[in-house]
Amino acid sequence: MHSYYGNIHALRGVSLTVEEGEVVTLIGSNGAGKTTTLRSINGVLPPRQGKIIFDGEEIQEVPAHGMIKKGIAQSPEGRKIFSRMTVRENLEMGAYHRNDRDGIRRDMDRVFELFPRLQERIKQEAGTMSGGEQQMLAIGRALMSSPKLLLLDEPSMGLAPVLVERIFDIIEEINKQGTTILLVEQNANVALEIATRGYVLESGSIVNSAPAEKLRQDPKVREAYLGEM
Ligand code: ATP
Repeated sequence: MHSYYGNIHALRGVSLTVEEGEVVTLIGSNGAGKTTTLRSINGVLPPRQGKIIFDGEEIQEVPAHGMIKKGIAQSPEGRKIFSRMTVRENLEMGAYHRNDRDGIRRDMDRVFELFPRLQERIKQEAGTMSGGEQQMLAIGRALMSSPKLLLLDEPSMGLAPVLVERIFDIIEEINKQGTTILLVEQNANVALEIATRGYVLESGSIVNSAPAEKLRQDPKVREAYLGEM
């Protein structure tokens, strides 16, 4: 697909696949186009050229608000939770389009099992929580739509290393429970640890793609993204 901001050609023929059950990661440096790729998939910045096929159906013209019904949810970069609402209200917002009460309750229980901290803070105003807690809430809110595909934008951003490990353990668990994941990360180290496959994005184009293990051993990837010389 090709995507533009005005006449800036941000994605220059990005092509990628995510199979059911996988964790696929998209790594790349600042400005490579990682967030733009997620925006193009989730309908916020529809590609000007190209197709997005989900579950056998073309969805590149589905508007952003329609994606959740299709089964695609995103936990946004920068933890864009509703800061004046409580934890519970934020989670409820993630399920606003649903009316299967039992299912919603089950999903809320699942979120609390994954993130016990959120249950402890259920009545707290979201904006007053720590960065890590807000990240958990952003992921939890996305899970409340019971998505088939979860898009994660930089879940490690701004978190202390211990917390990054924890969040990634939980992302792995979410995947094991049956949710397919497309993970955008600047922290290639942790992303490639949990991913099945990875793509490397540079200046709006995919320059490499391979099983995660292979990317971890690739000298170029090690030098550019894993902080090794
Ligand atoms: P980062 O890790 O820094 O967020 P990224 O890989 O997610 O980087 P994008 O945010 O997708 O990168 O940006 C890709 C390119 O598109 C960059 O050159 C960026 O300056 C440009 N871009 C992003 N958002 C806009 C916008 N709203 N208007 C114009 N250009 C934009």
